[in-house]
Amino acid sequence: MKTFDVIVLGLGAHGSSALYHLSKQNIKICGIERFKPPHDFGSSHGQSRIIRQAYHESPMYVPLVKKAYELWNELEQISGRKILLKTGGIILGNENSNVVRGARLSAETHDVPYEYLNNQEIAKRFPALKPTEDTVAVVEQSAGILFPEECIKINLQLAEKNGAELLLNEIVESIHIKTDWVEITTNKDTYAAEKLIVSVGAWLSDLLPELRLPLTVKRQVLFWFKNTDEQRQLFIKPEHLPIFIWQYTNEHIFYGFPDLGNGLKIAPHHEGQSIHPDLLSKEVFEDEIDQMKNILNNYFSISAVFNFSDVCMYTNTPDEHFIIDYYPSNKNIIIASPCSGHGFKFSSAIGEILSNMATEKDLDFNISPFRINRF
Ligand SMILES: Cc1cc2nc3c(=O)[nH]c(=O)nc-3n(C[C@H](O)[C@H](O)[C@H](O)COP(=O)(O)OP(=O)(O)OC[C@H]3O[C@@H](n4cnc5c(N)ncnc54)[C@H](O)[C@@H]3O)c2cc1C
Repeated sequence: MKTFDVIVLGLGAHGSSALYHLSKQNIKICGIERFKPPHDFGSSHGQSRIIRQAYHESPMYVPLVKKAYELWNELEQISGRKILLKTGGIILGNENSNVVRGARLSAETHDVPYEYLNNQEIAKRFPALKPTEDTVAVVEQSAGILFPEECIKINLQLAEKNGAELLLNEIVESIHIKTDWVEITTNKDTYAAEKLIVSVGAWLSDLLPELRLPLTVKRQVLFWFKNTDEQRQLFIKPEHLPIFIWQYTNEHIFYGFPDLGNGLKIAPHHEGQSIHPDLLSKEVFEDEIDQMKNILNNYFSISAVFNFSDVCMYTNTPDEHFIIDYYPSNKNIIIASPCSGHGFKFSSAIGEILSNMATEKDLDFNISPFRINRF
């Protein structure tokens, strides 16, 4: 049986980053992945991910995202490739909306510079946007766009260059806990490791059913729309439109990205149906496209024409905070489900945390809010 110091299961956003950070140490490591990453069957595809600091979900994420920025910058320098485009960000809603109040709270708690705009200031500064009268906005200059496929590719290339073994197109079927090591059976072979990081995204409940984790996997559609209004073409380019998150009713949020070449990218947040990840269909229906077109008509001053779509998955916890913890009865297994639709931006920092957990180093961050026993 092949043996390793650490094996990482699943090489998406967090697994590829964990493998890269582990590969900087002098240990024998491998990553096992059911597809060939980056791929578009999990949660980390679709050309772009938002990164921002005025974090409306909770101020506790701000130190983590600041660390993530540092590590993304470091990865850009080491690889010599572009992975982060700073566009700034605009968070919109009424003054009592969760996103606006939350963004201001995080910014004020952690000294993130921001501006607070009323509806007229928003329309003047960002002519693609059509705010309603009660809309206000938090504008943050440090926000921007990560290129997720490129991030994963770089993590894996660097890890392999540093000596990590990559076992691709290999499906992990079961994990067997031994006294002081772990055995992993795949569709091809059996491996042993002292430590295991399980970062299999939407398939986590399939691989560890005994933990009965309260996870729900949801189908999420992404849409790209071209602007056919010649005179307003420039308004959706990154020079005039930052990344946006808009809470347009109490229960509904959409978010999106300026036009990087394929049109404006826009998507609803947390509205998909529950699915099993093996049954994810890429088919997108006319009524879904129409719904998004209505949103564009109501909240944007452009002539939007549908270009194409993609489908991805959120793996949600009930409180929408992450899971980063040890297996309840065994510290040799580390479990990571940092998703709930907002985990990518942190993956540079979470990969380092997972690597430190596996090599029993001190952690720079308090992971207690992410423990499994909170459920
Ligand atoms: C549409 C969409 C938009 C999002 N927007 C943002 C955003 O703007 N900003 C942000 O920060 N976050 C965003 N997120 C969330 C973020 O993308 C996810 O939190 C993150 O990608 C999750 O990474 P992961 O490593 O947990 O999962 P994944 O990247 O999916 O990786 C899991 C990997 O495990 C592999 N695997 C599964 N089972 C097995 C097995 N049995 N054997 C071997 N390999 C296996 C899978 O093939 C996959 O490659 C978004 C998510 C979606 C879906």
